[in-house]
Amino acid sequence: MKSAGYYDLRQALTEPGCALCRLLARLADNAIDGVLWELVNDPDTRRNLNRARGYCREHAWLLVRHGASLGVAILMQDVIETLLGVLEMANFEKPAGPPLSRVWHSLNHSPSSSEATAGLLAELSPQQPCPVCVATERATSYYLEALLKHLNGPDELLSIYRASDGFCLPHFRQALARVTDKGVPENAFTALVEAQKTIWQRLEADLREFIRKNNYLFQKEEFGQEGDAWRRAIEAVSGAPPAKVK
Ligand SMILES: [Zn+2]
Ligand SMILES: [Zn+2]
Repeated sequence: MKSAGYYDLRQALTEPGCALCRLLARLADNAIDGVLWELVNDPDTRRNLNRARGYCREHAWLLVRHGASLGVAILMQDVIETLLGVLEMANFEKPAGPPLSRVWHSLNHSPSSSEATAGLLAELSPQQPCPVCVATERATSYYLEALLKHLNGPDELLSIYRASDGFCLPHFRQALARVTDKGVPENAFTALVEAQKTIWQRLEADLREFIRKNNYLFQKEEFGQEGDAWRRAIEAVSGAPPAKVK
């Protein structure tokens, strides 16, 4: 039986760019929606966000959406209060040792913040990961499992994958890291590498053609599918662009 992950992936692979980046972006967007419209006053949600010291930079800006300002203000007030509580508890930890050695130390070394501020730095750092990162990591496993399980065989994903823009390099690495997982067919490694090779060769040919047409000798030639190859290459190497602030 195929999971919902299989069908999501199958659909996403027919669209441009890294299918996994797109699925995870949608999931992150839905997760933030869920928090803003249903969970602003949920104690667990608030505790997790406070302990994570807010969302990570990638996910925090998803909070900016129509009608969300009050919810965001309530969530952020709690985080800021938590941070203030941390600062109130902070003690500057003086470096240990007799005064004389301290003088010698300060003459011979640039002042080190490590001893004095380690405690506060640790408390200001996330005490647990960003909640949306946790959700996207879980979903990544779920989608990669679906891909690897159904690369070959009936309703295989391999040919759709090969015809797509492929996963971005970070997601391809994650897929590859899982080919030895239990339940993954033995030929998954060869199949995945062969498909990725085809995808990158196609992209490289487009880049070559784009560069050729930029030569003044060929400037009269119109751009075709290679016109946005430079942009597709950024995504292929580094992943989809970050979400735009709405
Ligand atoms: Zn990706
Ligand atoms: Zn995050």
